[in-house]
Amino acid sequence: MMTNKKTWKLWENDRVNEEETKLLRRKADELPLPFDEDGKRDIRILIESFLRRDDALGLAAPQIGISKQIVVFKNKQLDERGRVKNEKDFDVLINPRITQIRGDKETATEGCLSCPDVSVEVSRHTEIKVKAYDRQGKKINKRYTGFLARVVQHEIDHLEGKLIIDHDGSIYVPRERQKFFNDYFKE
Ligand SMILES: [Zn+2]
Repeated sequence: MMTNKKTWKLWENDRVNEEETKLLRRKADELPLPFDEDGKRDIRILIESFLRRDDALGLAAPQIGISKQIVVFKNKQLDERGRVKNEKDFDVLINPRITQIRGDKETATEGCLSCPDVSVEVSRHTEIKVKAYDRQGKKINKRYTGFLARVVQHEIDHLEGKLIIDHDGSIYVPRERQKFFNDYFKE
């Protein structure tokens, strides 16, 4: 079985990761309910991978090479830095569906561990309702607003194989990497 300290990325330095791209671009599979042993293991691995790192607000299972509909994200201290210690400080959503969107859209710059070195202006809804299962397999309905709504939409996009570079907004790349990205985005 694959262990997954590694984050799957579309590219790494000046190399395009074909295999990782394939998985990151695919629609992730739903977890069957009630969760079987594989499902429980995948949930546990994603949470552990997330808790081990201090550079992410959230993580979607495809980002560690597991093509399943599981996401985890900090729900309070909205800062990449610092590890999450308390169970209450993060949410796990399994097979999440956005059931309602409200409010205006807001544009902000986002980065993504799977798209290293770039940032993209992404327009997102400021209020969403989500139907999902929690890590015990219980049905839940949650409402997210503001920046947290943005984080949740970003993570759910991953389950559809959608990444920040697929949004319409401007893409910012570091000057010294301009050539690589010019070629990359030409395709
Ligand atoms: Zn991401």
